[in-house]
Amino acid sequence: MLVVFLGPPGSGKGTQAARLATKYGLPQISTGDMLREAVSAGSELGDRVKAIMAAGDLVPDEVMLESVEERLGKPDCAGGAVLDGYPRTRGQAETLDPLTRRLGLGEVSLVLMLDVPEDEVFRRISGRRQEAVGEGERADDKDDVVIERMRVYRELTEPLVEYYRSTGALEEIDGVGTVDEVFDRLDGAMRETVQG
Ligand code: AMP
Repeated sequence: MLVVFLGPPGSGKGTQAARLATKYGLPQISTGDMLREAVSAGSELGDRVKAIMAAGDLVPDEVMLESVEERLGKPDCAGGAVLDGYPRTRGQAETLDPLTRRLGLGEVSLVLMLDVPEDEVFRRISGRRQEAVGEGERADDKDDVVIERMRVYRELTEPLVEYYRSTGALEEIDGVGTVDEVFDRLDGAMRETVQG
């Protein structure tokens, strides 16, 4: 089963995707983590994406597609995956279904959209930065970069809400509340999809 998480930066996607993946025994595929690892490792991919990520912009679709194709082709994804941070553009969404069909994984069956108002998102990101001071603060959690990431989200990623509404896979979830409260809502949507 393929599940996609959508939501603005700071909406709690990563945390919730990890929990959901663990509960349902699916691998969590976080494209942001994959890219950060490539940057830390100093690989060719890392060198290519480092400046783009630091500016809060999106890595080109074709570069992402190659990485995601390689990852989804691994044996642990045979039963599906929880995609956290992919797709993020219309182009990525449109190439995802043909890719997963080709890999024998079927189509995206559930898109969980975490709704969190913008002022709350900024507050959460500043909190994350305070906690991370001195221990691996994310280069893209600085104020001006957060503003750019939000702009990019609104312009390129938010339109996917309509895209997935039209495929019927979309579930909008209120992302305000404790981690447990939000998880229960997500898990409810997941259970309904699993039970069909
Ligand atoms: P994240 O941890 O998901 O917020 O991702 C961090 C950064 O990685 C983003 O700001 C982008 O620069 C890059 N990135 C992650 N996923 C994608 C994607 N699907 N398409 C393009 N760039 C991405």
